[in-house]
Amino acid sequence: MITCKSTRELDKMRRSGRVTARVLERLVGAVQPKVTTQEVNEFADELIRKEGGIPAFLGYHGFIGSICTSVNEEIVHGIPSTRALREGDLFKIDIGALVDGWFSDMATTVYVGEPDPSARRLVDVTRRALGIAIESVRPGAHISDVGHAVQRYVEGQGFSVVRALVGHGIGTALHEDPPVPNYGRPGMGAVLKPGMVLALEPMVNAGSYQVKTLADKWTVVTADGKRSAHFEHTVAVTPDGFEILTLAQEAPMPNEIPMELKAKEGGALDATQTAGRAAAG
Ligand code: MG
Repeated sequence: MITCKSTRELDKMRRSGRVTARVLERLVGAVQPKVTTQEVNEFADELIRKEGGIPAFLGYHGFIGSICTSVNEEIVHGIPSTRALREGDLFKIDIGALVDGWFSDMATTVYVGEPDPSARRLVDVTRRALGIAIESVRPGAHISDVGHAVQRYVEGQGFSVVRALVGHGIGTALHEDPPVPNYGRPGMGAVLKPGMVLALEPMVNAGSYQVKTLADKWTVVTADGKRSAHFEHTVAVTPDGFEILTLAQEAPMPNEIPMELKAKEGGALDATQTAGRAAAG
C-alpha cells in the first residue's frame, strides 16, 4: 500500500531529511586517503545521534554498520571495516536516519583524492541520472516513468543501470511501497499523487548491469568488477511536482528547484557536495 503523507507528516520527514543531509555533508568533508570506512561509520553514528536521530541501517536485518560504505566495484550495502580509503577510490556513502518516527534516506559518491577522467564521467552521469529521476516526479506521472527516463539517459551515455536493486517508498518505515526501478517502460505502475514520498536512487555501472553479492551476504558488487556510482535523495510528490526532503539547508522555494537541477551538469544535488573533495569535481 502506498501512503500519502499529510502536511504535518511531510514537515517531520523534512526535518528527518535535513538531519541526514547535514550529517552526510560532514562525512563527505571527512573523506580522504587513509581514512577507514569504519572511521567514517563511527563519525556518522556520532553525528546522527547528536542531531537527535537514530542511524536507520544499524541492526536492519542484522546489518552491523550505521551507514553503508561501498568502494569502487562495490555498488551498495558495503559493511564498514578497517579498509583504508586510497587515492583514486570511488567511495559511496549510503545513510539513513530515523528522526521523531520518520525515516530519510540518502546516498552520494565521493572521490578519494583526484579522480581519473572515467571516474569523473561515471559520477557525473549518475548524479545527472538522479536529477532526471527527480524531475520525472509530478502528480499524474507513473512510477515507471522515473525509471524509464533514468535508463534512457544512462544507457545513452554508454553505462548501465543496476536492475537487481531499486528505489522505494519511505516514511514511518525505511522501505515502503512502491518499489521504484531505475529501468523499464513508461506508463506503468502506480500513479503519483501529492504526499507520496520516494527514495530515488539510481545505481550506475561502468560495465554491465549484472551484480553479485559477496560472501558477507551484504555487499553487492558489479559482476564484471568495473566501478559503480550511486546517488540518492528522499523526494516528496507535491501538487506542482516534487520537493527534495534530504537537503542540508531550508528548502528553496519549490519553483526554484527545477532551475537548480537544470543548472550546468554537476550543478544538481549540491546539498551533498558542498564540503571536502566531493564528487562534484
Ligand atoms: Mg534507499
